[in-house]
Amino acid sequence: MTINHVTVVGAGVMGRGIAYVSALAGFKTTLVDISESQLLDAMENAKQTVQKGIARGKITEEKKQILLENLHTSTDLATATKETDFLIEAVPEKRSLKQSIMQEVEAHARDGVIFTSNTSTISPTELASYTNRPEHFAVMHFFNPVHLMKLVEIVRGLETSDETVKKVRKVAERMGKETVEVNEFPGFVTSRISALVGNEAFHMLQEGVASAEDIDKAIKLGLNFPMGPLELGDLVGLDARLNNLRYLHEKLGDKFRPAPLLEQYVKAGRLGRKSGKGVYDYSKERD
Ligand code: NAD
Repeated sequence: MTINHVTVVGAGVMGRGIAYVSALAGFKTTLVDISESQLLDAMENAKQTVQKGIARGKITEEKKQILLENLHTSTDLATATKETDFLIEAVPEKRSLKQSIMQEVEAHARDGVIFTSNTSTISPTELASYTNRPEHFAVMHFFNPVHLMKLVEIVRGLETSDETVKKVRKVAERMGKETVEVNEFPGFVTSRISALVGNEAFHMLQEGVASAEDIDKAIKLGLNFPMGPLELGDLVGLDARLNNLRYLHEKLGDKFRPAPLLEQYVKAGRLGRKSGKGVYDYSKERD
């Protein structure tokens, strides 16, 4: 099956970014969400991102037209699924939610359509088991911000076919990404390392080892990380980070137990950039 039409489910931090690179690559792309306002926001975001790309000389006017022609939004998952050749799920990291999405798309998709999930932690074998096409399922793990980050981790489930991995790789490459193939382990490569480092930074903040600014500065300038772990947490979303840690704690043991301060921030609604405040305060940036 030639892949022309890509459906992305979930228009949050990740889904909107994935839909952007998909449409820019020339795939007819439908971004689906239950929230109209998320979809409006995502479209606005895509227009701003492409405009910034043009201003920096990274994107041509012609590419902008390709983006605008190919990017569509919908709240009707069933119809989008019927028309699609390739599906990327990017709803919140909750198994029951991902299960219900997989079951719904299974009911509407044509045979042979590949299903992928952008899950950071959940087993591809488990997600594939919610469909009748485990050989056509893989995890396709993008990074934030999607239009800038080069990597896609492809994670096989038990039944994922070689053909499916090949097709997922081709789609990722057409979106301008490099890929790595990872075997099924909780947290893959990147989420496992990133969760551990991010959690340790929260412990250090709580213990008073240094200020948030100095922890981030030390890691950037001393260890040559492009971003500090605390600012990265704010970018990823502290709720998403906490969810990952809870899952890894359950699967891999005590070293992933979430730092109490992180739990407290999430309880307080300090979720990072998306809520205007996390470790750092972004409220002034929004004005
Ligand atoms: P998010 O909370 O920013 O966005 C999720 C979106 O899904 C929201 O717009 C929400 O309205 C929508 N949604 C909820 N229920 C839905 C439904 N039934 N149908 C359609 N849409 C629905 O989440 P996110 O940070 O974009 O994360 C999405 C996935 O990507 C998660 O599995 C997460 O673990 C993974 N991930 C996140 C990051 C990151 O940096 N945030 C990085 C890699 C992977």
